Amino acid sequence: MKARVLLTDSDRFPFGPGEVSLLRDAGVALDELPGHDRDAVARAGAGADGIFVYHASFDARLLGRLGACRVLARCGAGYDNIDVAAARARGIQVTYVPEYGTDDVAEHALALLLACARRLAASDRAVQAGGWPSFGELGPMRRLGGSTLGLIGFGRIARALAARAIGLGMQVVASDPYVSARVAGPAGARLCSMDEVLEQAQYLSVHVPLTQDTTHLIGAAALGQMRSDCYLINTSRGQVVDQQALVDALDAGQIAGAALDVLDREPPAPGSAILHRANVLITPHSAALTEEALGEVRRTALADVLRVLSGEPPLFPVPGLAAGSAELVQSERRSGQRVSRQGDIMTELIVGAQETDTHQKALRINLDPRWYGTIAEIGAGQEVVRWFFRVGGAAGTVAKSISAYDMAVSDAVYGKAERYVSMGRLQGMLDKEFQLNVERLDDERGDMNCFFAFADTVVARSFRGGNECHGWMGVKFQAQPHDEPSQIVMHVRMLDVEAFAQQEALGIVGLNLLYGAFFHHHESDKLIESLLDRLTTGRIEIDMIQFRGIEFRGVDNRLMALKLVQLGLSGVAMFGPDREVLQPSEVLRKKAVLVERGSFRPPTHVNLDMLATAKAKFAEDPAVAGKPILALTEITMRNLLAGGAAEVDRRDFLARAELLAACGETVLITDYFDYYRLAAYIGERTTERIGIVMGVPSLIDLFDEKNHVQLPGGILESFGRLFKNGLKLYVYPLQPGPDDALKTVDDIKVQPEIQPLYDYLAGRGSFVNLDNCCPDYLHIFSRDVLRRIAANDESWETMVPDEVAALIKKRAFFGYVKPGRAYPDD
Ligand code: NAD
Repeated sequence: MKARVLLTDSDRFPFGPGEVSLLRDAGVALDELPGHDRDAVARAGAGADGIFVYHASFDARLLGRLGACRVLARCGAGYDNIDVAAARARGIQVTYVPEYGTDDVAEHALALLLACARRLAASDRAVQAGGWPSFGELGPMRRLGGSTLGLIGFGRIARALAARAIGLGMQVVASDPYVSARVAGPAGARLCSMDEVLEQAQYLSVHVPLTQDTTHLIGAAALGQMRSDCYLINTSRGQVVDQQALVDALDAGQIAGAALDVLDREPPAPGSAILHRANVLITPHSAALTEEALGEVRRTALADVLRVLSGEPPLFPVPGLAAGSAELVQSERRSGQRVSRQGDIMTELIVGAQETDTHQKALRINLDPRWYGTIAEIGAGQEVVRWFFRVGGAAGTVAKSISAYDMAVSDAVYGKAERYVSMGRLQGMLDKEFQLNVERLDDERGDMNCFFAFADTVVARSFRGGNECHGWMGVKFQAQPHDEPSQIVMHVRMLDVEAFAQQEALGIVGLNLLYGAFFHHHESDKLIESLLDRLTTGRIEIDMIQFRGIEFRGVDNRLMALKLVQLGLSGVAMFGPDREVLQPSEVLRKKAVLVERGSFRPPTHVNLDMLATAKAKFAEDPAVAGKPILALTEITMRNLLAGGAAEVDRRDFLARAELLAACGETVLITDYFDYYRLAAYIGERTTERIGIVMGVPSLIDLFDEKNHVQLPGGILESFGRLFKNGLKLYVYPLQPGPDDALKTVDDIKVQPEIQPLYDYLAGRGSFVNLDNCCPDYLHIFSRDVLRRIAANDESWETMVPDEVAALIKKRAFFGYVKPGRAYPDD
């Protein structure tokens, strides 16, 4: 083809060899014009068939001076420097590069935002000037996580910025009259009015095209509505901000500062009032000028110019209306392309970003089309559902949110309950809400949605304080559409002092539970670990967790209980003879409690005799008589990690748990090696008496001062804490060898300097001699049983209860070799 094209601003934006050779191959001659002086453009443009436009302005008069020009290729996304209607009237096609620099400008806006948050410009200027500003001199710096980004305009760049800001843990609110919440939600922003955005934003970033409507959109009125700690960031067009009003607002301290890539006059006049301000950062309209973006814009613009010159329609003609107008947005909405691409980007970003972040988790759930259900919360505010609304896009996730505070209302909805903060009430809520979702929604959505019901019933710190702050929470959900439900239920204690902090922690742990159920249900260990994301064990305790249902068929709840203790989420775990995990507070409540600590590797006649004889004596105590007694067998974490193992041997642990269950015992796993801590834990949950069962060697050990050095008050402090409230030790006698005399509490000798302490406690009745023991069992020790099992010495079977022997043999526990086999697991 025989044609000429003109490249304006060729000094700043020259074509590369690739573009030059493309033109040459197409037979098109290239004229280059440094800069964009109006007359020079008119002269050079008079003979051009096509013009590449960077900064030159083409109004109707200039267009009138062009000759046979057929295409104006705006090398950028905005085209406010071209009178499109006048161009069309002259038969000139106007093309642009709509996706140009989207990521680049978003990154630049983010860089400006970060620079404001971290006072980078002021810091650098001060240091370059020979200073070294100390803390406070630069003004406050801010962490981005949790702060609010307000966006004016929610088109391509704003959405790309939103995705990045969300990745940093920010909340995003946006105002855009042409974008619907259905589009904004999945992109992670809460859509609201411009007033709300102005009032909420701590960083206000402007991303509208320059039109009549948007000229001076950010003027005195808008600046007056902004928070005094807000930074204004403008990467759109200078005229969108009324620069004089901005200067006035900065002078008056109405806003914290500004970061501007665009000005009303570029470059600014030397004495411009916007210059030389400590809290203003300016970049030279360089937001989109990355090497990558410039290359893309050249290639896209050139391709369209060649298409027009060869008679084909361009790929990117400017729309009939201004960019960002309703028509353009509608057409994009119809095609759905932008929305789905944005969703993909969001998901990638979120998954790739910090998965522990609460904001990200809520957003990922909202963006995932599978999950749909109800969130029912009683007691501490709607802390969990709030996350879903806060991050935006909740309409695709939350079918219903309910909070019945009045007991009569709660009873009317879920049936009468004896206690409102109980597992029973929680289960009632989960069952009812899950069932309702299936009944109401299955026909319409059952093929594509996994229904869920999340519920919590808690008591947070009351107005007067002093109450136990705890609750139950759980989720019942389908892992696949139409699937049987699976369920996770747990008991939490909120340890923060302030009610608002308790509520916040509750919201986070609830969200962690939902996220874990939805995305980690195949990895129960990981699921439990993730419950503490963005929390600490100083804020939340989880002392019971129970997995049930089809997804968790392979989960042994006792291992999960152990995991809670291992992670420090709980000091104890408890499970009953039926292998079900128990919530310790509920079980201990109002019970007289007797605990026997041991390795139970395996449980022997002695272990059971100790508990039985102690129970008999315990029941004789007038303070216990007639009260329900709970007898517990306790294994400490230290015992489970004996021998310096870094990890608990799960097989070994389950073997002991199975054997104790076979004996009908309730098992307590604790992280409380010090007896006084064990006593304190139980004492906080029952007002009744506590008894601890031990053998003579353990009692002697207890009187070793070395075992109490961790307390400032040493052994006296330890005993002061242990023996309060009438706690007694029930001590089983020892017969060291067959011919040795029996050793009991009456003839124990400890270190001479401690002996008076021993005698004092013995005298006040703190030790109870288990003289009702069975003498035949006194020679039995667990480690001896283990040795005999390993040596294939059948005599071990007489040392343990029948049910223990049978199970060890059946399951080949502790290296037992079945007859006829060479190895334990042969
Ligand atoms: P876009 O067309 O994708 O988005 C613009 C959005 O603004 C649209 O969603 C539109 O609905 C919205 N809008 C229009 N009028 C509004 C109003 N009165 N209030 C609120 N929202 C309104 O455009 P984009 O790619 O995101 O770019 C935004 C602007 O950024 C461009 O128009 C351009 O001026 C500017 N830009 C600057 C640079 C730079 O180097 N600094 C580079 C590229 C683009």
